[in-house]
Amino acid sequence: MEVDFQMTNGSEVQSNFIYNMIVKDIEEGKNNGKVHTRFPPEPNGYLHIGHAKAILLNYNMAKQFNGLFNVRFDDTNPVKEEQEYVDSILEDLRWLGVDWGDRLFFASDSFDLKYEFAERLIKAGRAYVCDLSPEEIREYRGTLTEPGRESPYRNRSVEENLDLFRRMRNGEFAEGERVLRAKIDMSSGNLNMRDPVIYRILHATHHRTGDKWCIYPMYDFDHPFTDALEGITHSLCSIEYTDHRPLYDWVVENALELMPEVIKTRSQQTEFARLNMTYTVLSKRKLRRLVEEGYVEGWDDPRMPTIAGLRRRGVTPAAIADFQERVGVARADSTVDLALFEHCIRSDLEKKAQRVMAVLDPLKVVITNWPADKVEMLELENMPGNDSFGTRQVPFGREIYIEREDFLENPPKKFHRLSPGQEVRLKGAYIVRCDEVIKDAAGNIIELRCSYDPQTKSGNDSSGKKVKGVIHWVSAQHAAKITVHLYDTLFTKEDPENEEDGDFTNNINPDSLVILTDAVAEPSLAEAAPGSHFQFMRKGYFYLDPVAAKEGKMIFNRTVTLRDTWARKVQK
Ligand code: ATP
Ligand code: MG
Repeated sequence: MEVDFQMTNGSEVQSNFIYNMIVKDIEEGKNNGKVHTRFPPEPNGYLHIGHAKAILLNYNMAKQFNGLFNVRFDDTNPVKEEQEYVDSILEDLRWLGVDWGDRLFFASDSFDLKYEFAERLIKAGRAYVCDLSPEEIREYRGTLTEPGRESPYRNRSVEENLDLFRRMRNGEFAEGERVLRAKIDMSSGNLNMRDPVIYRILHATHHRTGDKWCIYPMYDFDHPFTDALEGITHSLCSIEYTDHRPLYDWVVENALELMPEVIKTRSQQTEFARLNMTYTVLSKRKLRRLVEEGYVEGWDDPRMPTIAGLRRRGVTPAAIADFQERVGVARADSTVDLALFEHCIRSDLEKKAQRVMAVLDPLKVVITNWPADKVEMLELENMPGNDSFGTRQVPFGREIYIEREDFLENPPKKFHRLSPGQEVRLKGAYIVRCDEVIKDAAGNIIELRCSYDPQTKSGNDSSGKKVKGVIHWVSAQHAAKITVHLYDTLFTKEDPENEEDGDFTNNINPDSLVILTDAVAEPSLAEAAPGSHFQFMRKGYFYLDPVAAKEGKMIFNRTVTLRDTWARKVQK
């Protein structure tokens, strides 16, 4: 089989080592040729664009090979996990287009089996209860250059271990007083194999199992067991788990041997590169700090790299999928240019977002030779070059608004917009000339007086005039007043986490949000449906925020500008 499925967007074909590995596994008859993947989020925060990579990779591999895909919550730490996060994660997965059918699982679904497995490990002499304090355990573990020392509790009898473990479960001990450890190898070169803790005491209420348990399995013990239990063939995870793989294999092998009535799959872990992006932090711990310390308004703030934030910003699932395809899947971590992501967003919206006119920073223009009460309806295309989007009627009258920056009193040479005595075309309407500039007492320009040329109606121009500039406008009488949010990156540095700058919050961009309350738009936007995408001509792609709409606020979020810095970079 050749690898050519990946680049559906027509850019260069990249080989994907995971795809190739699965092809080989199938050819060799591993797992009887079955492919079964999973996405295992911990419900302790919202999903971000990095998770989307893991989600789409796992999901697409299953789909590609007619396999199965599970969503499984890794809910083994009741102290940090909440139902709110479970709900948000499922909503985000659905929105990304992931269909898990009836295969939604929780690690906590199988706490009973995990407990049984732990007892069997004890009975096989492969696990023991240790009374060292967490600090002592760390100290005994040794370092990369120094072997570990065996715990004085390592050689307890099976009976004593069983008794103590049961009493741990029954709540007889305080947190940190005792743990269950796998008995592997204190001199292993891999620190994870030096008798890792596999169960700990936590007197906390779990969001699903309530107060049934006060001991909880550790991730490194729980995860491989759950994979094997669910029949996961390919456990794809990010690179930081590479050193955990020997322990993963140890747990799976022991589960196959000691729990044969339920464990039938030799799950195999494969690591791939994490997604990192410039101007972005992608760690839930740091994203939580942004929320809790008030740098943003919530997990779904449109400046956040969370799926919920991106959705509210106006990013589409198709753009995210395209981005992931272009980034590809590699073995080594790297940092992707934010400009590439924005390029993908723009490419998708270009095909989908209706063109309209909105003026973000209005300057009034009076067309002196246009009758005061005359309104002409002009027909404008909703999507130039694509008739299926149809046309709309836009009113034109004596008073209009143009963008303040589209007028300069003393223009430089190549300024093709409006200036005293010069002509410009109003998009879809007429050519106008600026005759007079009105200023207030302080010298600020408050109005322009222009005249229009009746021979120059768009699509029916008999004047023979050639003007270089076309600017957008909105009829003052009919204007819809709108609120616009303009976004910049949340951080001022490409690498906000670099060490010289100290805490990453030192690199927060104070101008990441600019709120415009004086913007105006053509009247159709007053009735726009929340959740609609638009291109405000010359100003960018905007999205009518559906979350704000529920709170009664009409806010147009700028998803991206029209400036494609990626295309420029790639050309260079
Ligand atoms: P974070 O580092 O943001 O806290 P996490 O790994 O602790 O993330 P989990 O909920 O455990 O969060 O992640 C679920 C899955 O998503 C894991 O398999 C993890 O490998 C993957 N994942 C998390 N972040 C990224 C990323 N930046 N790129 C690719 N995959 C990721
Ligand atoms: Mg994790």
